[in-house]
Amino acid sequence: MQSIDQFFPLLATPQKAVITMHQKPDGDAMGSALGLYHFLQALGHEVTVISPTNWASFLNWLPGCDKVVDYETNREKSAQIVNATDWLFCLDFNVLHRTKNMEQLLTQASCTKILIDHHQQPQEEAFQYGVSNTAKSSTCEMVYDFIAASGYADKLDITMATCLYTGIMTDTGSFRFPATSAHVHRVIAHFKDLGLEHTLIHQYIYDSSLETRLRLLGNTLLNRMEVLYEYNTAIMVVPKSDLLRFDAKTGDTEGLVNYLLSIQGIKLGALVIDRDEERKWSFRSKDGFDVNAFAREHFEGGGHKNAAGGRSSDSLDQTVRKFKQVLQQYEAQLQ
Ligand code: 5GP
Ligand code: MN
Repeated sequence: MQSIDQFFPLLATPQKAVITMHQKPDGDAMGSALGLYHFLQALGHEVTVISPTNWASFLNWLPGCDKVVDYETNREKSAQIVNATDWLFCLDFNVLHRTKNMEQLLTQASCTKILIDHHQQPQEEAFQYGVSNTAKSSTCEMVYDFIAASGYADKLDITMATCLYTGIMTDTGSFRFPATSAHVHRVIAHFKDLGLEHTLIHQYIYDSSLETRLRLLGNTLLNRMEVLYEYNTAIMVVPKSDLLRFDAKTGDTEGLVNYLLSIQGIKLGALVIDRDEERKWSFRSKDGFDVNAFAREHFEGGGHKNAAGGRSSDSLDQTVRKFKQVLQQYEAQLQ
């Protein structure tokens, strides 16, 4: 993988570009894809954003979101676009299998592949150009850096800033997590100078739930949470029946896992959701416990040191039992 600086001279010639991100894109994945989309369009490229799956409706207001192609419901059209593209930008994921059912299409594509990502252990051999930096708060911050260093920094506008702010805000827990550097605050100051309406964006993302989502949260906290004090760990187990009862939509379980770390002394929070195709794990930690390593080792996943995800094909009961079993190996680390 060559450094991203080597790619910048190519931006001068109009090309076809596809931008994609990890499945079930969150604020950072969708925000970075759309921020880059508007930038590449401003340079005269022909750009399509293809998402591997659907996404949470609280992202729909993002400028350009209505143009995003959902691979799962447009497989043929997506394949045509990918097979005809010159460039494929892969944003906010480190390995191609994070695009789920799109992995094969992306692997066999013969175009130039460019990675922009902040997860650990990237699959470098799959990309011709790229930047991978785990110290970055978000892929949105990295797309800002990309624009700033590209030679076309003057193209940055309020539309791009709105998209990029969204992912920086969501991935930093609203400017709370350690990766919220002085640079991040300077980037936001630049966005404000362009006219960014940060209060509106916060409302679009965080004040747009339906009543059912809050009922699901209440039920999960009351009935589906267990605190394992001997391991300084708390766990939430959400069965399929809850998802049906509260009519859960994509994104409705986002943020649930964070409540676990708000309990005094808790160093590891784990949430497992009984999805149709798999049991999906989310892990969060503080005080040094490495959930990236934990998720890689035991749950086919990964992510960052303090926020990672994983999966299992076991039944819900089985995977929870396995979690409690492997936890025993970490008793000393969790003290
Ligand atoms: P979340 O728990 O919010 O779904 O994910 C937390 C972090 O871990 C995110 O940065 C996400 O991209 C990453 N992540 C989630 N699931 C997986 C997974 O199955 N594999 C890998 N490698 N990373 C994941
Ligand atoms: Mn991210």
